[in-house]
Parts: sequence; C-alpha cells; structure tokens
Amino acid sequence: MISYQIMEHGRPLQKVMHETPKPTGTEVLVKVTRSGVCHSDVHIWDGYFDWGGGKRFYVKERGCIPPFTMGHEPFGVVAAVGPRAKGVKVGQKRIVYPWIGCGKCPVCKAGQDNYCMKAQFLGVMKPGGYSSHVLVPHPKYLVDAAGIDEGFAATLGCSAITAYSGINKFPKLGPKDWVAVIGCGGLGLVALSILKAKGVKNVIACDVDEGKLEAAKKQGAKLTLDTRAPDAAQKLGALAKGNLAGAIDFVGMPATFNVAYPALRKGGRYVLCGLFGGEVTLSLPPIAQRAVGVIGSYVGNLQELKAVVALAKKKKLKPTPIETRPADTVNRTLDELKAGKILGRVVLDFEAA
Ligand SMILES: [Zn+2]
Ligand SMILES: [Zn+2]
Repeated sequence: MISYQIMEHGRPLQKVMHETPKPTGTEVLVKVTRSGVCHSDVHIWDGYFDWGGGKRFYVKERGCIPPFTMGHEPFGVVAAVGPRAKGVKVGQKRIVYPWIGCGKCPVCKAGQDNYCMKAQFLGVMKPGGYSSHVLVPHPKYLVDAAGIDEGFAATLGCSAITAYSGINKFPKLGPKDWVAVIGCGGLGLVALSILKAKGVKNVIACDVDEGKLEAAKKQGAKLTLDTRAPDAAQKLGALAKGNLAGAIDFVGMPATFNVAYPALRKGGRYVLCGLFGGEVTLSLPPIAQRAVGVIGSYVGNLQELKAVVALAKKKKLKPTPIETRPADTVNRTLDELKAGKILGRVVLDFEAA
C-alpha cells in the first residue's frame, strides 16, 4: 500500500510503500478511493495546536508520532474482512467513521466515541486516509453512502458531522432569531447547507474573504458580513436586529470570538469548532447576566454521521464545492489550505495515484 506520511512535523509528507495489513478479528480493510483534506490536518502536520499566550499543545502527546499517516475523511471500497467482521462484504463502498473510541468505556457504550478518553481516531492517533488502504477496527464504523457523490461523501465524516453536531448545540430558534456562521471554508459552507436543510433561514455568513462570502451566498446565506471592519461585532448584532441566538465559529481565534460573542442576544450561544488558536479573557458577570453560553463542539458521533448521510441521500444537503485532485498533490494542498487559498474542500483521489 501507498501512504503519504509525516516523517518530520512541518516538512513535506513522504510517499511511503509498505505492506498492506491483513484484517484480523473484527477488522475491515478499506481500499481508499477518496480522502478529504481537513484544515485540522494542517495543525497535526505542524505538530501542535496554538493555545495562545505562547502555550502549545503538541500532538505527539496524544500519540501522533512520525512516521504518521494523517487523513480522517476516508471513503472507499471494502477490500478484505477479518474473520469476526459481520455485516459487511468485499466490494461495498463505504464512508469510514474516523472518530473511534476504545469501545469499552461508558461514553463509547453510550455511542459517544468522539468523547472517549482513550480515543483511537483514524488520522489523528491511528493511521488514516492519506493512504491507499485504511484498517478499520469494526464494521459498525462503516456507513453506506449509495447515491452520494464519492468526493462529497468522504467529507461527511468530518466536515459535515462537525457542522451538524455544532449546530445541534444552538438554543431553540424562534422565527425572529438569527444565527451566524463564522468562517466560510469547507465547514462553514456545509453548515450553511445543513441550516438550510433544517429550515433555518435567518443566516449571516461571516468571513474576511470576499470569494468565500460569495460562495456562502450561493450556499444559502441570507446576509454576509466582511468581519475585517473594526466594528464588525456591532455590525453583526445590527444585521441580526439584536436577535443573534447562535454563532458557530469554524475559525476559532480571538478575532472571530470577539466578533461573535459580544453580538449574541441574551440566552444566545457561541459554539466553537475551529482550532486556529489563541486565548481570550472574559468578564464573568455578563456571562450570567446575559445568560449566554460558550460551548465547544468536537466532530460528532456515529449517529450524527448517519443523520447527515440520510440528509445527503434525500438530496437535502446542497453539496459544497469539492475539488478532486490526485493523491500526490497532498503537499501542495496542505500548503494552500494553510494559506487560506482553498474554496470548499479538496478531496484526494487515490484511484488516480
Ligand atoms: Zn477534520
Ligand atoms: Zn471509550
């Protein structure tokens, strides 16, 4: 099998040939056809997340030690099954759910693998989808996506469930309520599509890039806001007519927090998904007085993946712009992603490799 691996953090990935693993027990070997490139891969590639104030979280502390294969949006064909892998057949096309837990702890047993303390996430702690093959520990993590474009299907495993799970953390929305989507890259665009599918019409898309705001408009945003303006928070509050009930931030830096959080109405919620980095200082009394929520949302669980797949199958999710590139363009793709030059999502094509 071919894998594009981190040999040294921050250095170009290397194409490595190694032996294709044989599935044992309940394992399933998937031959990857499409593999999405997510912005969080840029941080894993760099080797750390920026916690602000000079603090860093190094990914090696959670098991990502080179040589390492990233990629948590694999889609492919079942190539081989272990002797105890039931309910799946060679040749079936499947989305691979990557946010796999230990399977034994109470959160895993409750179906919240993504909150497991002994996580085995593909492409984060275990070898992922920047590879011609990926080993999946159990067939339950494979989701049928018949009828969905393969490139778009690949992105459902991270970008769509992250957006879906985050949106589920908004307060109950009334007809006069507004929501803001901060950051209109791959995740922001899919969030717009999910909001539309859920019948939420009052949506303001926020970004610093006019091209991305234009794409957001096409994706269904009613209003757009260029957040480079110094009074962007006041502008956001005014566009929402003082009724900003929810803001979902796919960037996650002090500048985006400082646009969204002050603009919330009382009882509103700021949902943080983006991992750009930094830190903020908050006055405590207004959190209580405004009854606002600041809540984090990290990827999503298997049920949430099945829910977004069902929306996509019913054609209720407008596919986001997807650019399919040969797998060997992975380094150029990561560079462009880091520079903010990618519109929508790039999906690597392993059939062309
Ligand atoms: Zn991701
Ligand atoms: Zn667990």
